[in-house]
Formats: sequence, structure tokens, C-alpha cells
Amino acid sequence: MNITLNQLSDQIWEFAETGFLETKSCHAMCQYLEGEGFIVTKGIAGMETAYKGIWGSGKPVITFLAEYDALFGMSQKADLFEYAPLGSNENPGHGCGHHLLGVGAIAAAVEYRDYLKNHQFEGTVQILGCPAEESGSGKAYLARDGYLDDTDIALTWHPGQFNQVHTGSSQSCISVNFRFHGISSHAAGSPHLGRSALDACELMNVGVNYLREHMESTDRVHYAYLNVGGKAPNVVQSEAELKYFIRSTTNPKALKLYDRVINIAKGAAMMTETSVDVLFDEGLSNTIPNFVIEDVLENAFHKVPSPIYTEEELAYAENFKNTTPLERINIPQKALDKEAIKKIISSQSIHSGFMKCAHSEECGMGSTDVGDISWVVPTGQINTACFAIGAGSHSWQWVAQGKSSIAHKGMQYAGKILAQAAIEFHSNPELIQKAKDEFNQRLGQDVYQCLIPKDVKPHLID
Ligand SMILES: [Zn+2]
Ligand SMILES: [Zn+2]
Repeated sequence: MNITLNQLSDQIWEFAETGFLETKSCHAMCQYLEGEGFIVTKGIAGMETAYKGIWGSGKPVITFLAEYDALFGMSQKADLFEYAPLGSNENPGHGCGHHLLGVGAIAAAVEYRDYLKNHQFEGTVQILGCPAEESGSGKAYLARDGYLDDTDIALTWHPGQFNQVHTGSSQSCISVNFRFHGISSHAAGSPHLGRSALDACELMNVGVNYLREHMESTDRVHYAYLNVGGKAPNVVQSEAELKYFIRSTTNPKALKLYDRVINIAKGAAMMTETSVDVLFDEGLSNTIPNFVIEDVLENAFHKVPSPIYTEEELAYAENFKNTTPLERINIPQKALDKEAIKKIISSQSIHSGFMKCAHSEECGMGSTDVGDISWVVPTGQINTACFAIGAGSHSWQWVAQGKSSIAHKGMQYAGKILAQAAIEFHSNPELIQKAKDEFNQRLGQDVYQCLIPKDVKPHLID
């Protein structure tokens, strides 16, 4: 006998495993799916914590995407209205709600399976367990290695603060490390004999900061020091390393920008007489939107009753809302009626109802590995309110609310909407064709070129 879906998401919240280490979370989800009669294969596309669950056979093949990785340094006690890490503040926590995301996708798969079973319809329900969304690009490997080649429509969701259909694109992103090697020496006694890897890092960053004026306004480049070479100022630092994220609106543009950043790294090495290793880390593709799927998802929102909250739940949400000043609450940019959403933000503690968004092709700032899936199969996404209006993702507030009844309700709601959309596609195969036509038209002559080279295998990130 299976545990409930709410219990399963609570378990994954407790496990709080980061990318490619989601062993217990993956096992718990696979066990649940097996209990529901899915044929489960674990360890796919070279990732031990990726899985595939299949039920049924024949066309259409509808795939639901599950995530379940946690974030480093996001530990937080449940249900507290103030920052309170659970153990060390370096411990991981579910700051992006992926414990709900994965189980909501299972809820959708099981509900759609029930529909096919009850009507004895042909059709395949697939759930793909996609590890390492936060860092690791799990879905890019699944897309690159052909795990969606038979899929007709892919559906997913993300926990959020508003009930909406996700629209628009996201940025392509390349993650790369620059490891500089110099020569150590006494910084006072014999500086002329030293060659500083730290100087090279600093000069590289200065170079990139000058590059910014000559990039497109939608490009983004950010860096962090992984190794500053040590803590002693009187030593010429012989080893130092930077990590860069290089983002643009499309993969070819991201690759061009990547080449420009590599030239700056080479220049910094030349200036300092050091050497540099360019270590490719991971890559995410931009997202191809699909308006046909967006419309089907919007209809599903109108068909599925939205959650009803108790007085207690509303008071709980209000307490979390009060931890964020009103002026710091993000106004969803894609909302069709911005004034209405501003009123909701000031008057509600948890979003009830539906926020209509205008179809958009605009590239939002930020990246997701759902982008890679959207390049190989028509893909649609929604958000549901799982958290109080207020703090955004990657906040202690999201971790704290992760096991609450409002989080559970939002997760179950998302599962029902995705299942309803799948039912609509099954009942109207012409919609699948329309979604495919739009997909083909958007791609035109472009072919999917995963940013991760074929020889790069899934790996843990430093
Ligand atoms: Zn996240
Ligand atoms: Zn996320």
C-alpha cells in the first residue's frame, strides 16, 4: 500500500538532497510509481538518480517531468515565521519547492493513468525523473540522449505564488570554470619570480566587466571565485579559479559570447604569464514556447476547481506574507492585467483564482533545463500557488512552507491541471498535431544542438 502523495513530498522535503545525490528521493518516487503499476527504470542517461516510469502503450505518449533536487545552504525549520536553519546553515533545503514539483508530476501521471484505465483507452503515460535542475542540467542529458524522442507532448509545472500558465522563453546558459596556474613566490622577497593566478582572475574579471558595454542588453555574465589561491597576502598565489555563467537568448548567441569570454581569459593569462584551463561545466538551452499547449493548459485551469483555504491556512499564509515588505514583492511581468494583480498582492495572502498572462515569446532573464526538453518536443508549463504571496523562490520562507497544507493543495492542484490538459490532448488528437505544427514552425531550419558536448557526462558541480 502506497503512502499518500502529501507524505511522499514531505519525505523528499526531509531528504533535501542536492543535484545528482537525490538517491533517497529518487528511490521513494520510484517505489511509489511501482506501487501504482508503472514500469520503472532507474539510472538513465548516465544519471543514477534519473528515472523513467511508463504506464500503458501506444499513442499518444504524454510525458510529465519531475524534479526533486534541493539547494545548498537553504536549511530551514518547517512552519516557522522567521529564519531558523535546521542544523548548520550550510545544510541543503527545498528552497525552490522541487519536492512538490516531483510529486505533483506523479499526481498528474497517476490521474491521467486512471482516466486511460477507466476508459480502456490506448495511450502511454510517461514520467521522467529529472535530477539536478538547480545545477547539473539533468534534463539536458535526457533531451540530448533521446529520452523524449517518442514523446508527443511534455508537461511540467513549477511551484510558485500565482496560478498561471507559464509563457515566454528563458535564456541559454553556459557554465564554465577558468582555472589559472602561475608560480608561487614570496610576495615581498622575490615577487619578480612569481606569476600570480589571482592577478589573472582579477584581470579577467576587469576585462569581462568592460565587455558588458558591448554585449546585447539581454545578455548576462556573472562570476564567482571558486579558489582565491589562499589566505596569505605575502604569497604570490599560484592557483586560482573562477566560475562563470554566460547567458544569452539563444544557444548560438551564448556560444559566441562564450568565445569572447574565453578570449578575455586567454588575454588575462597572457598578461600575467600564467596559463589557463577552460573547464566546460554545463549548458542549458533557451525555451521554445508553445501557445497551443498554453491554451490547453489555460482551459484546464478553468475546468479544475481551485483550492479552498481554511481561516487557519489564510492566517498561516498572512504570517509568511508579513515577512516581506510589500514593495519588495515581485509583480509578475507577464500578467495581462497588472493593476488587478497589484490589488491581489496587496489584499490576498495566498493567490486564489487564475492570473491570465498574454502569450509571449519574450526571453525572461534566467535559465532552466526545461529549455532543452522544449527543443525536442512541444512542451508546456504552469505555476500554481503553493506559497504565500511575498518572498520568492530560493528563500527560507519557501522552505518553511514546504510541508504545509497550502503547499500540498497547490501541488495537488497542479497535478489535476496537468492531468486535465493530458486528457484534453488525448480526446482531441488534432490539438497534438497543432502543437507539433507550431513547434516545427518555431524551429524552422534550426536543429537542437545541446550545449553540452556529446563526450561530457553528467557530473557533480564544484
Ligand atoms: Zn530554483
Ligand atoms: Zn526550481
